[in-house]
Amino acid sequence: MSLFDILYPRTCPFCGRYISDRQIREEHIEWLCVDCWKHLPRTEQDILRDNSTEETLTDGRSEIKQAMRLEKAAAYLFFEKEHPIQWVIHRMKYRDQPMLGFWLARQALLDWRNETFFEDLDLIVPMPLHPKRLRERGYNQAEYIALGISELTGIPVDTTHVLRVRNTPKQARQTGDERKTNVANAFAVVHPEELKDKHILVVDDLITTGETMRSCLKAMKRIKGARFSVFALCKA
Ligand SMILES: [Zn+2]
Repeated sequence: MSLFDILYPRTCPFCGRYISDRQIREEHIEWLCVDCWKHLPRTEQDILRDNSTEETLTDGRSEIKQAMRLEKAAAYLFFEKEHPIQWVIHRMKYRDQPMLGFWLARQALLDWRNETFFEDLDLIVPMPLHPKRLRERGYNQAEYIALGISELTGIPVDTTHVLRVRNTPKQARQTGDERKTNVANAFAVVHPEELKDKHILVVDDLITTGETMRSCLKAMKRIKGARFSVFALCKA
């Protein structure tokens, strides 16, 4: 695989169709086909305040939002079972294709170009993986999402301050309560003083119950004066 193929995948990751030079030239869509681009299950949460992602994180309560120091939260796509997005996210996470996260995040920015969601941010923090999980997988998919955002905005990515200190079991078959106990105190912040007063965007691939993100934000409250925003590729 050449560098060009990594930068510009030539088949659509959603349907497998070949992406022609003409499409790239005329439609300016480089990494998925025009049909799949048209049918991405967009949330349009960039223009919606009080959207379902924010609601999941805050229970729809402004006092919780305030206590979390959460500025805004949004997801780019709805995660739909049996939709190709399910398979694309699966490949991104487990099948060694993290560049899909880079491309999807980049696409979110291109689609949200007229919105202010990514303005006024100092730093992007990808949801950390536990070192053991990172070794098994070989990469952190959230880091690729962060890099996709960083590429077009120039906002730096920080992977050194927020750490996952407890390895939690895979969440697929757990009930809500089990998840809650599993991710409690799973995160730690080192040298929080270095991030003082920053507006930090925390990014993840998928928000379902929101427990993991809430737990991470809770740990990050140690950072004095910091404010937080959340971007997820998908909202289940
Ligand atoms: Zn396609």
